[in-house]
Amino acid sequence: MPLSVIVTTFKKENVKRPLEGFGVLVSSKEQKNGLRTLGTLFSSMMFPDRAPSDLYLYTTFVGGSRNMELAKASIDELKQVVTSDLRQLLRAEGEPTFVNHYYWSKAFPLYGHNYESVLQAIKKMEEELPGFFYAGNHKGGLSVGKAIASGCQAAELVISYLNSTSDDRGI
Ligand SMILES: Cc1cc2nc3c(=O)[nH]c(=O)nc-3n(C[C@H](O)[C@H](O)[C@H](O)COP(=O)(O)OP(=O)(O)OC[C@H]3O[C@@H](n4cnc5c(N)ncnc54)[C@H](O)[C@@H]3O)c2cc1C
Repeated sequence: MPLSVIVTTFKKENVKRPLEGFGVLVSSKEQKNGLRTLGTLFSSMMFPDRAPSDLYLYTTFVGGSRNMELAKASIDELKQVVTSDLRQLLRAEGEPTFVNHYYWSKAFPLYGHNYESVLQAIKKMEEELPGFFYAGNHKGGLSVGKAIASGCQAAELVISYLNSTSDDRGI
């Protein structure tokens, strides 16, 4: 799925409801209230040295399966979308003092589209290629934590495979 990441800063005095915390996820039903972003990390709340002390820095995600086309929008349109959502959520008034934009054309896999057949294909590859083990965000979850767990699990399988093949060869 494509994703745009938009980084904005606002003067602290212009953010009238500066929520403290990790961030906010926007549920899909909030689109009817005009919210079009997927969520925002309150980056300078989590890591105060990410922005000058008089600014709040926000990292906002737009796109995904919910709004694929919007992920590819121009920086001007994305800035408007983000500014509008942050105004509603945090009462961030006026224009951001800084904007940066990253576009990820293949940000992460979409679970749900024939996912069972993906799992079957991975299983088939592992069965047909002894010593091949699949890890990563296409299997078992796409979060960093799940991707690491998937990697650890694959590493265990590699170790036991190597141990078993070295036993076979009498090494
Ligand atoms: C913008 C964005 C924000 C995200 N935010 C969060 C978040 O807040 N929390 C969260 O939990 N998850 C988040 N995720 C999801 C999470 O980061 C990814 O799903 C996870 O990092 C994927 O891990 P991975 O090891 O499967 O793949 P990757 O981290 O993509 O690792 C794959 C590696 O393989 C390398 N590679 C590719 N092809 C080859 C090749 N042919 N030969 C050798 N090496 C190759 C790549 O360079 C890369 O280093 C986010 C993802 C994106 C894109």
